[in-house]
Amino acid sequence: MLNLLTISGLAVKLARREVSAREATQACLDQIARVDGKIHAFLSFNAADALAQADAADKEISSGVQKPLLGIPIAIKDVLAVKNQPLNCASKILGNYISPYDATAIEKLKTAGAIIFGRLNMDEFAMGSSTENSAFGLTRNPWDVSRIPGGSSGGSAAAVAADECFASLGTDTGGSIRQPAALCGCVGLKPTYGRISRYGLVAFASSLDQIGPFTKDVRDSATLLGVMSGVDKRDSTSVPEPVPDYVAALDGNIKGLKLGLPKEYMVGGLDPEIKVAVDAAVKQYEKLGAEIVEISLPHTDYAVAVYYIIATAEASANLARFDGIRYGARIDGNDPIELYSKTRGAGFGAEVKRRIILGTYVLSSGYYDAYYLRAQKVRTLIRNDFLKAFETVDAIVTPTTPTAAFKAGEKSGDPLQMYLSDIFTISCNLAGICGVSIPCGFTKSPKLPIGLQLLGKPFGEETLLKLAHAYEQATSWHKEKSCALNGLWSKFPQK
Ligand code: GLN
Repeated sequence: MLNLLTISGLAVKLARREVSAREATQACLDQIARVDGKIHAFLSFNAADALAQADAADKEISSGVQKPLLGIPIAIKDVLAVKNQPLNCASKILGNYISPYDATAIEKLKTAGAIIFGRLNMDEFAMGSSTENSAFGLTRNPWDVSRIPGGSSGGSAAAVAADECFASLGTDTGGSIRQPAALCGCVGLKPTYGRISRYGLVAFASSLDQIGPFTKDVRDSATLLGVMSGVDKRDSTSVPEPVPDYVAALDGNIKGLKLGLPKEYMVGGLDPEIKVAVDAAVKQYEKLGAEIVEISLPHTDYAVAVYYIIATAEASANLARFDGIRYGARIDGNDPIELYSKTRGAGFGAEVKRRIILGTYVLSSGYYDAYYLRAQKVRTLIRNDFLKAFETVDAIVTPTTPTAAFKAGEKSGDPLQMYLSDIFTISCNLAGICGVSIPCGFTKSPKLPIGLQLLGKPFGEETLLKLAHAYEQATSWHKEKSCALNGLWSKFPQK
């Protein structure tokens, strides 16, 4: 069961030539064949291409080449460009579009030796919290297939949780990495705004979007962050901060670090079982030598409203490019306007249309000042709350989500309820800081993963990952396997 390994575990075996990259890739393909019929994390994958990449990696390994991800199979959210692979953003509007080039993050993974395979399901254009907004059917949570995996990177979280790949990439605009990571029981990292180039990422809300990894443990997250980080002349929002050795930062020594507990986050709507798990995690941090300080982030209440003004405004502009002329699907009309409206009417799903309408409204003359401009001002207040808190603490600890994974269909008819499931993750994007979700327990019945969120200073990923790793080393939540449930495990060959 090679596919159960972490990246670092597989890398050791590859380096010792105990296993080949082909065997590791085949193990992922076998697992997909076993479980993906129930989970539907993958929209598509090309087995022959994946195995050809694996063979190329094996050749390099046998000639002594060393690269940080040589021979490691990694799957990708359907919003990032991978040369010669489909790119649909889980939307019908892109038709049969194939990427002509690699995103910078993908290029860096390839340079590091990774095998890039498979397109992972998501909410259409990354808009949603459950992956139910995909135009190609929902993804199911590997811990309980009657439940959603979270979103919008639900396929990325489910694929890692079900051991269908060794790691995956997702994107996080308001929680889309951390929330599904929490609900599926894996590690999900949203780096600081500007840390990883977004060249080749289909934009949703450009002032909020970041690319980040889903992994089985914190060490793997640090490895992928190190590979993908750095300034890129093709993305002017990437920042020329030096890239530290994130793995070297995982030394377990968190004595004296100060962790802020925001009083605004442990209130109404928080499931009692989540509160118990987060309280226990905070105690564990104290035991490990961290100092816990109560802090206040007074503008927290406005975050969801501010996000849904700014994100929809930016989305309405970004999605204007899908007009039936430039990319993908087209429905002809008698004139260009009719062509645009027919194509967009048929190509976009209901949630995407709702966002475009909302975003167009908040930017329209007469409403711009009342909504968009005011939201930008409140956004600054939210960022200032964090910067002030970081004058006294090294990181902030919160629950990642107010509840564990909910049932498919439970919130899909009520957009506001759906939006509120992002209540703890959204502020991080508005403030442009970094955040990670790590497993910190399970609900009792049914057994569902609970996520702990750590938020760090801008470009403070070293401290963030050091804290996450120290907790992980002291606990074993991350080692539990989802496929033991739902009869999925019984299909494993018992060897
Ligand atoms: N769930 C949020 C939304 O629907 C966040 C999505 C994301 O981070 N891409 O917008």
